[in-house]
Amino acid sequence: MCGIAGIYSNKPVAAELYDSLIHLQHRGQDAAGIFTYKNRMHKSKGSGLVKDIFTDKKIAGLKGNIGIAHNRYPTHGGFGHGEIQPFWTSVPYGIALAHNGNLTNYTELAKIVTSSESRYLNTQSDTEVLLHLFADLLHNKQQPTDDEEFFGNLCSAVEKIFDNVHGAYSVVSLIIGKGLVAFRDPNGIRPLVKGVRTNKEGKKDRIIASENTMFYPLGFEPEGSVLPGEIIYITQEGVVFNKRLEKQTFNPCIFEYVYFARPDATLNDVSVYRSRLRMGQNLAEKWKQKFPDKIPDIIIPAPSTANTSALSMANTLGVRYSEGLYKNPFIGRTFIMPGQKARKKSVRYKLTPQRTEIEGKKVMIVDDSIVRGNTSREIVRMLKDFGATEVYFAVACPPVISPCFYGVDMPTRKELIANNKSVDEIKKYLKVDQLIYQDIDSLSEAVMRKGDHHIDQPCMACFDKKYITNEMNIQKINELEEMRIKDRNGK
Ligand code: SF4
Repeated sequence: MCGIAGIYSNKPVAAELYDSLIHLQHRGQDAAGIFTYKNRMHKSKGSGLVKDIFTDKKIAGLKGNIGIAHNRYPTHGGFGHGEIQPFWTSVPYGIALAHNGNLTNYTELAKIVTSSESRYLNTQSDTEVLLHLFADLLHNKQQPTDDEEFFGNLCSAVEKIFDNVHGAYSVVSLIIGKGLVAFRDPNGIRPLVKGVRTNKEGKKDRIIASENTMFYPLGFEPEGSVLPGEIIYITQEGVVFNKRLEKQTFNPCIFEYVYFARPDATLNDVSVYRSRLRMGQNLAEKWKQKFPDKIPDIIIPAPSTANTSALSMANTLGVRYSEGLYKNPFIGRTFIMPGQKARKKSVRYKLTPQRTEIEGKKVMIVDDSIVRGNTSREIVRMLKDFGATEVYFAVACPPVISPCFYGVDMPTRKELIANNKSVDEIKKYLKVDQLIYQDIDSLSEAVMRKGDHHIDQPCMACFDKKYITNEMNIQKINELEEMRIKDRNGK
């Protein structure tokens, strides 16, 4: 997962790109970069958290009223400095590009870029490949005489990308002397939203980003989503061109609603917070049907993504909601930390049980998901250590049975507990008195119930193995898993 943002403004953008990255920090904590344009490209990148990378001096050096930014959470390529986005090429024009997603035919595309297009790839990042493909497709066009003609060139370049690049990709790009470009893959798997702001002189500033979490603090009004298969071009003078180049089924990632997106975000015209409330309601109804005689004394979320679902589950069951596990906010989310050892070690540092909330009670824990199962098992052990008489475990999503190849860094099939164990076996492994998962249909219903959205069917491949894009057969899955293992091991 990553977070991207592009801003066109009537005033310098560097500070607002920095603020955007702060509000997208939850989407990637590995590294970040900002590129702006004024007379030339101004660049700054680094590893770590946004607040630690960009000093006042660095922000002051990022000149210009137009720019793009990226927060990195690697799902392809290594962890080195050279892999930090945005990527940049000087031919043609000077193009910088940042991307959220994952290209499933990276190997084939890398061969095209290096052989038939004679370009050198400096990293193993799929973003670098995407940049060179985009640059080459623009390079082969006739010099445009005006913005409209340039937009025509952009449309035919991106149409070719849609035809040849498989997987998930939401993109922002900065082109010297031309402006800001954004496009989203034809299934709209990864999110991309847009906003507008009018200044005192009546001039419009524009933002395109992974989530709208920075819109309110920066004064932008939401304008909905960049549609699947749509391209948007904002010229240096602020003129906006847009076109939906391809119409396929709209299949946004459902895991954004379960775990990744910030609760205050609205993605694909669906409120993340409201969808999580509905997940809790649906789960409570299932619990009532399955275990009518097992009503807990207290419901505690595994903080903090599950807080919202736990709250509505408690309301629906008529049970007290409690913050019986205190989360130290200064330790990163365990899902994001690479390596099993660090993850296991971090649970007890991160979560402290409150004895007064737990001792002598039947406790229900609500979590957003169970991936490997280690964190959940540790939580159950802590609750029993603190005197819970019974522990029930409710999961806001269905069992995760297959990895994501569309930009969420999930473990391999071997490591996914639900790929290797039945629900009963997981119950025994966790040592819980009862375990319940959300049904696939109930999860999809929770996201789609309300909102003026145009989602056909969310991607749920990590729960049902039905990958959205055609190339995802078993051979491809094996190949991508191997590639990911090599990336992790730094080979
Ligand atoms: Fe999202 Fe899962 Fe689909 Fe990946 S496989 S895009 S995590 S729903």
